Amino acid sequence: MASALNFMVEPFNTSQRPTHSLGPVARTANAVRSRKSNDVRVSYEFFPPKNAQMEATLWDTIAQLEPLNPDFVSVTYGAGGSTRERTHNTVARMASETNLKPAAHLTCVGSSQEEINEIASDYWGAGVRHIVALRGDPQDGIGEAYIPQEGGYAYGSDLVAGLKDIADFEISVSAYPELHPESGSWDAEIDNLKRKVDAGATRAITQFFFEPETFLKFQDRVLDAGVNIDIVPGLMLQPNFKGLKRMSDMCGVNVPVWYSDLFAGLDNDEESRTLLTASLTSELTAALYENGVRDFHLYTLNRAQLAVSVSRVLGLHHRLQAAV
Ligand SMILES: Cc1cc2nc3c(=O)[nH]c(=O)nc-3n(C[C@H](O)[C@H](O)[C@H](O)COP(=O)(O)OP(=O)(O)OC[C@H]3O[C@@H](n4cnc5c(N)ncnc54)[C@H](O)[C@@H]3O)c2cc1C
Repeated sequence: MASALNFMVEPFNTSQRPTHSLGPVARTANAVRSRKSNDVRVSYEFFPPKNAQMEATLWDTIAQLEPLNPDFVSVTYGAGGSTRERTHNTVARMASETNLKPAAHLTCVGSSQEEINEIASDYWGAGVRHIVALRGDPQDGIGEAYIPQEGGYAYGSDLVAGLKDIADFEISVSAYPELHPESGSWDAEIDNLKRKVDAGATRAITQFFFEPETFLKFQDRVLDAGVNIDIVPGLMLQPNFKGLKRMSDMCGVNVPVWYSDLFAGLDNDEESRTLLTASLTSELTAALYENGVRDFHLYTLNRAQLAVSVSRVLGLHHRLQAAV
């Protein structure tokens, strides 16, 4: 009793006060507070739905994200052109039924130049002005040898040039902050990006990554090489950690140990994994924002919840309030 009382009346020694460094939470708070000026642009990526239920989910997600007024939205193209019709139908419906600016992904694999040109002309006719132009993965799967289709476009840069011959599309391409698995060196990677820019691409959306330094170092490499293109970080909203790890391993994306540790033991706890994904992605955007990044591309996986949360952290809810 006496010692407890002694403790309570002990004068506070200021030299023992813990010092605070600006941790991730404070950093996020600072970044969020400073985001009043609507200076952030966000785009959302979707995949074409496979069945009626997935279609309903996608359009419900779109209804929730459209009021946030994204810069653009994009719809992926299945490996080897497997979703040709579904991608087209989804993009065309977005163009005709919403105020969104849709971009269609298009890949070279498994199609002749004539087929690709026809698809692109159809898009132009449907009012679609933006293509995400890609080579695509090898037909036998990631990790197998890539053999260009005879009579087709061989690489992303060839596709960009072909599209520009058809119409004056806005063209985005891919970029890889940790190297594309088939690029043997940084010189090859940057040369490839430069070829795509020279052919007419104006935006590079990156493969996903987990630490801000990964993106910022890559951006420096591109700038140092004098390649003039907007580089937009791609942020993966995948709370299924096992699936995320599998995909990362296939794509040559490093999952940091600290990141894996956070998800350890949560295989059966989807709610905690989702909260972690929201929190970690928000921290990542805050660090990128502090370093001057203003464009963000969210891989939504067709789900609204995480995309809405992260977009709000990025300040997009001010647009909702403005609309009201
Ligand atoms: C933002 C984004 C969106 C994506 N969307 C889709 C999608 O909708 N559908 C899909 O199937 N896939 C998609 N992908 C995956 C992509 O198709 C694969 O990563 C694919 O392996 C490479 O495509 P690319 O356009 O980056 O290829 P490229 O830019 O053509 O490069 C591929 C590789 O070939 C090398 N290379 C380029 N030109 C030459 C040359 N002339 N000679 C020798 N080597 C060369 C490059 O260095 C690189 O290693 C996407 C990827 C990203 C980052």
